[in-house]
Amino acid sequence: MRFVADAVVPCTGDTAVLRPGAVEVAGERVTRVGTPAGLRATGDPGTREVTVDGALLPGFVNTHCHSPMTLFRGTGENLPLLRWLHEVLWPREAHLEPEDVYWGMTLAAAELLAFGVTTSCEMYFHEDANADAVLDAGSRAVLTPGVLQLPGSEAAGSWWTASLDRFADFHARRNGEAGRLEVGFAAHAAYTVPLPGLVDTAAAARDRGALFHLHVAETAGEGDAFTAEHGGSVPQVLADAGVFDGRVLAAHSIWLSPEDIAAYAALDVAVAHCPQSNAKLASGIAPVVDLLAAGVRIGLGTDGPASNNDLDLWEELRLAAMLARLRQGDAGVLPASTALDLATRGAGAAIGRPDLGVLAPGAMADMMAVSLDDPAFVPLLDDAMLLEHLVWSASSRLVTDVWVGGEQVVSDGVVLTVDLDRARDEVGRRAERLASVVD
Ligand SMILES: [Zn+2]
Repeated sequence: MRFVADAVVPCTGDTAVLRPGAVEVAGERVTRVGTPAGLRATGDPGTREVTVDGALLPGFVNTHCHSPMTLFRGTGENLPLLRWLHEVLWPREAHLEPEDVYWGMTLAAAELLAFGVTTSCEMYFHEDANADAVLDAGSRAVLTPGVLQLPGSEAAGSWWTASLDRFADFHARRNGEAGRLEVGFAAHAAYTVPLPGLVDTAAAARDRGALFHLHVAETAGEGDAFTAEHGGSVPQVLADAGVFDGRVLAAHSIWLSPEDIAAYAALDVAVAHCPQSNAKLASGIAPVVDLLAAGVRIGLGTDGPASNNDLDLWEELRLAAMLARLRQGDAGVLPASTALDLATRGAGAAIGRPDLGVLAPGAMADMMAVSLDDPAFVPLLDDAMLLEHLVWSASSRLVTDVWVGGEQVVSDGVVLTVDLDRARDEVGRRAERLASVVD
């Protein structure tokens, strides 16, 4: 099948734009990208053509998310991170049933797909229900269930071993399922999981070539007790302990010293940058410009919908650029092309998936069409301006159609794969129950 669009933005790490452009897809993958005339001249005459009104982009990759927390959207507002976790979130999460997570993820998947976000890297429990919801919604996810001690559960000895056994079983059963699921491992953070637990979780991931996902340096003081016990910053102690030796994704990573950044670069630790969550919770502004300069892989993430409060990655790419400019005091840093890269190729690279976030031969045929029929794209004087408009004046409202692995999941703004009325109703009722259990 050949998709012919007014523009194709391949997002392969440069500023190339094809106007008009075409993308050929066979099965779940992209086979060729070029001009319509060029592909027609050299392609199979039997190729079916689909006309796309607007620009075709790779689907966005959300590198850090707790999507089923749609169940807790708007709950416990205006609290700093640690109070919010301890007083609001964890007491409720202790009462979650698998079906709650299924519906929370289903509603989230509908929201993600409508915004053109075709992959999310999820850290959440009840992982089988989460996986079922992703597949039923026709989406794609990297699922990294996390080691974490919720209040009320037993904590003795190496309490994380039981979780790791369960995650290993989950990995064995479901990694690669339907070509849509990848399974990794997570440990919540160095302030909630002791160092031996972090070491063991990282090793379980590394042994399987799986992604290891954790929160690092999200708030200024969260590492103080860890540093007092282990005599170094969280990144430096984790680096020395071998925790960073595999495929590692460190979410937030705001409060990093130059030595921490050097450790990330040396061990190729990737960062999931969550500017909106970081701003809303007053956690801080991550040193994105310094991380990029050091060669660290970075992708954007929304974080959970209770600290954002949506799953709209379009908001993140603009805010990432704005906050980087404020932090540096320089309007020239983080140009539109870089911001867009953080949601596409850079985000795929950050989770170790070069086949995601790009339109190139061999990549997954995860794509979105963006309407150019909007004041946001006027004037359009050259290709560079298309990239500027995508970041600075467009938004998720202009996403019209979305495909995952070549299958259409959004048409004319309507999500085809989720019964949205039912999902809204289920999440609303379940959220009410979870609120009443605690209050
Ligand atoms: Zn998080």
